[in-house]
Amino acid sequence: MRKVVLSRARIQAHRGEPGTLDVTSYSKQWQAKAFATSGLLENKRHRGSISVPLYIESYRRQLASLSEPRWKWLYKRGEASDYRLNLLCYCSDGRLCHTYYAIKYATEHERWSKGFEAHEDLVEFVEGLDWEGTIWEYRDPVRLRFSS
Ligand SMILES: [Zn+2]
Repeated sequence: MRKVVLSRARIQAHRGEPGTLDVTSYSKQWQAKAFATSGLLENKRHRGSISVPLYIESYRRQLASLSEPRWKWLYKRGEASDYRLNLLCYCSDGRLCHTYYAIKYATEHERWSKGFEAHEDLVEFVEGLDWEGTIWEYRDPVRLRFSS
């Protein structure tokens, strides 16, 4: 099975480009919304009324609850764009963003990892993330390089 290479970028600069997918709650594709954080969760995060670890744990549970058709749909989207899929969100590169965790989850999951891998520029970063969000507390946001 050929793997779909996952990356992420800011939606402001890449909206509508081939091989991209809006995975925010504003996405026009309902299937993609399954991978978005809820508006409620984002509001809490921006108000600071939810801790980073709880935010991430909440999103991890959401990903864990997604049914197989959702993951297959994501795979097919990538397959249709030459096995590349750039997940778009409003967050800046290197800022706490659910897209990094979506990539981490997909590429580390026992089953879904058969279909997904992280873009080479992201592998180390995504592997270094933990599900407690520690890295965001102690490390300055990094700027990631994207070749595509
Ligand atoms: Zn984001």
